[in-house]
Amino acid sequence: IFITIEGPDGAGKTSVIKELIPMLVKTVQQEIVATREPGGSRIAEEIRELILNPENTEMDIRTEALLYAAGRRQHLIEKIIPALEAGKVVICDRFVDSSLAYQGVARGIGVSEVAKINQFATENLSPDLTLYLDIEAHLGLERINQNKENRQFDRLDQETLEFHEKVRSAYLDIAKEQSERVVQIDASQELEKVVEECYQTIIKKITG
Ligand code: C5P
Ligand code: MG
Repeated sequence: IFITIEGPDGAGKTSVIKELIPMLVKTVQQEIVATREPGGSRIAEEIRELILNPENTEMDIRTEALLYAAGRRQHLIEKIIPALEAGKVVICDRFVDSSLAYQGVARGIGVSEVAKINQFATENLSPDLTLYLDIEAHLGLERINQNKENRQFDRLDQETLEFHEKVRSAYLDIAKEQSERVVQIDASQELEKVVEECYQTIIKKITG
């Protein structure tokens, strides 16, 4: 079973996953594989460095979108698909929805264009369940600023509030349009509450 976790910057994905994974490991029969993108395999991590390097300011937006899709494919082939075939539960921090929101909408390439290259990259493999951690853009940015020491600075940290508002509104549209797959969780709640909702949603999917 393939589960992805999505959300704007500052939604708390990293903190949630850190608490969620041990809870799942304890209670779920199947092996849990926690991974993330961009990155998740050696080649894909190199692509991540390239995309997120704050010095690469001249990167074209379509180049960026293609690199995300390329890294995603490599990670899928090396790590996600083998784990799924072995019957494991894969929990991935970000996937195609991130590209639709960040490159498709916020960068302005267009959702259908970005969806096309990702269909090519993934051969249409879609998550069974996506947890969308929803946070207002200004709250997400506040959290990022409060947590600066613990975060790696990346090229995206130079983006404006307006950019992050576009990301969030794109995610809200995806959650509405794909309500079968996407479960929206209010990430402005306290961490324990967010973790608990994520946990219950996943357990329901696995056992249901
Ligand atoms: O989720 P994480 O913080 O690891 O993502 C790293 C950076 O990449 C973030 O700043 C995020 O906004 C950006 N990103 C992006 N487009 C994607 C995925 C992530 O701009 N498709
Ligand atoms: Mg980040």
